[in-house]
Parts: sequence; structure tokens; C-alpha cells
Amino acid sequence: MNEWGYYAANFAAFRLLYEIHINFVSLKVSMAKRKGLSIKIRFEVFKRDSFTCQYCGQKAPDVLLELDHIDPVSKGGANDILNLITSCKGCNRGKSNRTLADSAVLDKRRQQLEELQERKEQIEMMFEWQKGLLDLNDEVVSKLANFWSEQVPGYHLNENGIKGLKKLNKRFEVDEIMAAIKIAAEHYLEYGQDGPTKESVECAWRRVGGICNTRRQEKNNPHIKRIYYIRGILRNRLSYLNETLALQLLSQAVALNADLDSLENHAKSVRNWTQWRQALENYINEHENVDDEEEEHGVDKG
Ligand SMILES: [Zn+2]
Repeated sequence: MNEWGYYAANFAAFRLLYEIHINFVSLKVSMAKRKGLSIKIRFEVFKRDSFTCQYCGQKAPDVLLELDHIDPVSKGGANDILNLITSCKGCNRGKSNRTLADSAVLDKRRQQLEELQERKEQIEMMFEWQKGLLDLNDEVVSKLANFWSEQVPGYHLNENGIKGLKKLNKRFEVDEIMAAIKIAAEHYLEYGQDGPTKESVECAWRRVGGICNTRRQEKNNPHIKRIYYIRGILRNRLSYLNETLALQLLSQAVALNADLDSLENHAKSVRNWTQWRQALENYINEHENVDDEEEEHGVDKG
């Protein structure tokens, strides 16, 4: 054998080995695929059919279970979970000799399977949806945290801060929280040589929730700012004041159309808490009574 012949023979042998290797690999891959698929599908179908032969009703482990194709593979039936049914070995083998059972029964069975499958898919979709919502919330929180860092250069929220942000995100809209962050940064930050001071940043962060709350109240009750202002006047002038009750009486009076200017002037002239409280309660009683009378007039007797 000359040198060329030697190489040619070696090359042919190498090619053969290589082809055997490739075929073996692809065989292994296809076997693994078929095996993996069939185990998964077998389990799904058996589970769906409660490990019971759908022809005779016998259960595992009394009988050996197999998968049967509703539409036979020879007629194009797919390896699809909808085309598969649990059968015991006896029914499966016997069935291959006899003609297919009443097609109405099979159609009904197939419809049941499709509905079951649809329901299963919908449950999975709902889980995905819920998961998506959770992911979305996380994304919103992280965006808000970034927004905070932008307003407060050099600082970021720690684990507790993120927790607080998550709570806020449950109670308020994103734009409400963003507005509150902006207001807190504008009002409470104090700047040193290296940007905002740590104390002022902490103070600003602590205010964000409160600002969200106040702004929500202002939105629900457009007069709340003025009411707070009038209560401030009372606080400055009177030696005693029940702040909660004052707020409640003022809100009630305004809801009954009390004039805000008159309330403010009254607060500036009143001498003590009892006097102020009685005046407000009188006003509320009078105007609530008017409402009651109107209601009584609305009823005819006989
Ligand atoms: Zn059976």
C-alpha cells in the first residue's frame, strides 16, 4: 500500500466510525425524547382518568394500564393527550380485533376530555396571570425606588424602605406616591457639602406616607385645607382644644353648607373651647333638623 492508499483507507475507516457515532447520538436523542414524552403523557392521561380503565372500569394495580388511541395512529390519530385514553391491557388488546365502539360514545368522551383540558388550561392561565400581577407589582416598586433615588442623589432605599414602598403601593396609586416623593424631597431635604444630609433624607422618607394620606383626603374633601387652617387658628388662640372633635365639627358644618369665611372669622373671635364647640353644635343641630323636617314633609298620611 502506498502512502496515499494508507491515508485513504484510514480516512474511510474514520468516516465510518464518525457516521456510526453521529447515528448513535441521534438515536439516543430520539429515544430520550420519545421516552420523556411518553412518561409525561402517560402520567397525565392516567391521572386524568383516575388510573381507571375507561372501557371496563377496572383500576390499577388490579390491572395493568396502557394508553389507547381514540383515533388509531394508523388513521392519523395523534399522540395528543386529547386522543389518548386509559385502557387496561385486556381491553386494549381485545379492542384491536373488534371494530371501534359506538362513535357517539367516543364523541361524548372526547368532548368531556376537551372540556377537562380547557379547564386545566384556564387554571394554569389564572396562575400565570396572578404571577404576572405579582411581577408587575415588583416592577412598579423597583421603578418607584429608582424614582426616589433620582430625587435624593446619593441615597437609595434599604430593605425596610422597599417594604414600606410595597405597603404604600398597595394603598395608593403610582402617581400619588410619585407626587408625595417629590413633595417630601422638595420640603424636607437639607443640603450639606456632599448633597442632602442623611437626617433630612430620613425625615423626608418618613413623610411620604403621610403626604399620600393628606393628599388623598384633600382630593376627597376639597375644603380640608381650609378646615385645617381654621383649626390652626383655634389651636393658636385657645388654651384648650380637642383637635379631633374640632376637625369633625368643622367638617360636619361645612358639609351642611356652613360658610368658610364665617367659620374663620368666628374662630378668630371666639373666647374658649366650650363656646366654640356649642356654636358649632348649634349650627349642626339646626341644619340637620331642617333636613329632618323636609323628610317628614315628604310623607303624606292616608
Ligand atoms: Zn379494561
